[in-house]
Amino acid sequence: MNHTFSLFEHLQSAIWIFDIQQKKIIWANKASLPLWEAATLDELTSRDLGADMSQAVNATLEGYQQHFAIGEAIKTWWYFSPNNIMKKALCHFSGFPLVDGRTAMLVEVIAEESSLRRELAFSGCSNLALLFSADGELISSNNAFNHSFGFQLHDLANFFGDISLAKDWITEARKHGTVRHKKLCWTGRSHHWFDIDGKWLQDKGQLLLSLVNISVEKEQLHKAKYNAEHDYLTGLLNRRGITNAIIENQHSQQPYCLFFLDVDGFKLVNDTYGHAIGDKLLRAIAIRLQESVKFKGLLARFGGDEFIIQVEQRHFEETTRFAKQIITTLNRPFHLKEVGELSIGCSIGTANFPEDANDIETLVTQADMAMHRAKLRGRNRSHHFSPDMADALYRKMTLRHHLTLALEANSFELYYQPIVDLNNHKLKGFEALIRWHDEELGQVSPTEFIPLAEETGQIVPLGKWILKTACQQLASWHNKYDHTFIMSVNLSRAQLQTSLAPMIETLIRQYNINPAQLALELTESAMLQEYDEAKQCLEDLATLGLELYLDDFGTGYSSLSQLQDLPISTVKLDQSFVQGEHKGSQAIIEATRAICEKLDLKVVAEGVETISQLKYLQNCKYDFCQGFYLGKPMPPNEIEERNFSLLNAIPDRNTQMITISR
Ligand code: C2E
Ligand code: CA
Ligand code: CA
Repeated sequence: MNHTFSLFEHLQSAIWIFDIQQKKIIWANKASLPLWEAATLDELTSRDLGADMSQAVNATLEGYQQHFAIGEAIKTWWYFSPNNIMKKALCHFSGFPLVDGRTAMLVEVIAEESSLRRELAFSGCSNLALLFSADGELISSNNAFNHSFGFQLHDLANFFGDISLAKDWITEARKHGTVRHKKLCWTGRSHHWFDIDGKWLQDKGQLLLSLVNISVEKEQLHKAKYNAEHDYLTGLLNRRGITNAIIENQHSQQPYCLFFLDVDGFKLVNDTYGHAIGDKLLRAIAIRLQESVKFKGLLARFGGDEFIIQVEQRHFEETTRFAKQIITTLNRPFHLKEVGELSIGCSIGTANFPEDANDIETLVTQADMAMHRAKLRGRNRSHHFSPDMADALYRKMTLRHHLTLALEANSFELYYQPIVDLNNHKLKGFEALIRWHDEELGQVSPTEFIPLAEETGQIVPLGKWILKTACQQLASWHNKYDHTFIMSVNLSRAQLQTSLAPMIETLIRQYNINPAQLALELTESAMLQEYDEAKQCLEDLATLGLELYLDDFGTGYSSLSQLQDLPISTVKLDQSFVQGEHKGSQAIIEATRAICEKLDLKVVAEGVETISQLKYLQNCKYDFCQGFYLGKPMPPNEIEERNFSLLNAIPDRNTQMITISR
């Protein structure tokens, strides 16, 4: 024996062989001595460990033997109490064949509690064991159990806190041999969660419970659930928390209203004062909302500066009034030590359960949509959801998806609408207008998809394609017909980047275009947004020799004089005036012409649909004209098929131009 184990002799960790029957250590290495509080190996091997071994431990060890018989090893925390000093070690138990044919137990200590971090040691599974008689009386508990929980436990019913459950367990264990459950139990001193492995000892007619204390894990789980459902900043429920809470309460079926609240201009606070102040403000807002909602319902921070409130309808008279109350509460100035007084507004969208939707996800989306409508209507107000909002959103989402596909497949086309010079009745050029035919959605109007492309930034690559295609077409027609047309291309605000002018310069060179033949159309809002940057960009374009048109004039709020220091050459009067949609349309047509003359700007009238409109514009001495009466936007081949008969067109009742446009 000594020879065999000389190999282990010098190992750092304690190893010994335990004779289960004799309850004696029959061999141990030197490293075992301190753990067993032994002076010599002889002294250790002479100890009778059976003397104070509880029946529970006995039964446990017998159970281990069955594992060893089939070649299995066991790893667990084990309590020792040599010389009444309590020790705990993580041990590896395995079977060890003795020369007499019996199996002993080889114990290797993997780690001792004293060498590990305490919390780590306790999070491991200890070999807590309880032995009960067939009628549920506690026969024995092991040292590990006694050390942690004392000696107050008497029976199984006491442990489970339930007499009939105790009986069921014994019946079940008897029948199946084993039972296994996770349960909150009473140890005689306190409640703990245990993972319980019960085993029926057939020969003795006893129930042995091996317990693993999983209270820490349970608590951590509870904490994790709390953290997952609450907002760290305000302590309110978060998105998941309120969703779960509402789902849990849904069985009550009480009608409720969901309020989606967004703080107006919160970004400005963050940008101006920094995020620390922003966070403080959010906490203050949360407190005020909490006061308003109190016990009437649930309140959650949904993310950023968005909050959600759920209130059962029996707690308030009317949705709008409750929303107004909340707005008024938040409108009261906030006093923050660092910055003084701060005033904010908020926009609220509302949706009702069950009228608007049956499930919380949909209600949140609906209330969110309604909130955006409230913002559009001028903020600091509330708005209730209506189904048309959902349709609009669905359409928008579908379009967004198809637009991405169309960009990849490049399924766009440019149409060209004639612009006629009223002085010589000749074709001045064309405005390039984009067309998109989607297989599923059909023809989609640019008034619908251009704003979407602007939102997503897709307008930049799309705009590049438009410019390139228009330049290519212009060059091709120039070569074919030897005529100097103007090609007018619409631009979006997002395209006014410093890279635009160099990009256009490259195109002009590539297609050998006279820059004066290229015009760019921009609305006044595009020109005035981030004015300095836009101005620089427009000046770069003008330096290239391009013309700049002010599109849709009359629909914005600025006066022409405000736009005077921008390099604009031409103004396009919005078609609504030509079509007489406004009170005083004629006056505006005439005034625009007069102002433009003074400012040395050319004017184009858009949307000419009838001969009388055309005549009127001629009388007003408009320079250029555009409209269905003179020609609809057409694909290039259609324009070519008509062999440019509009080249010398005279915009009169019987001109070919009419033929073309019809
Ligand atoms: P816009 O720049 O004001 O273009 C004129 C719009 O009026 C065009 O609509 C044109 O087809 C239409 N139109 C022309 N004559 C008449 C008429 O006599 N009566 C009526 N009722 N309408 C007439 P379209 O092609 O649907 O384009 C709508 C808007 O979409 C454009 O307004 C422009 O803002 C934008 N857009 C079109 N193509 C492009 C493009 O290539 N790039 C950019 N950024 N925007 C574009
Ligand atoms: Ca235009
Ligand atoms: Ca226009």
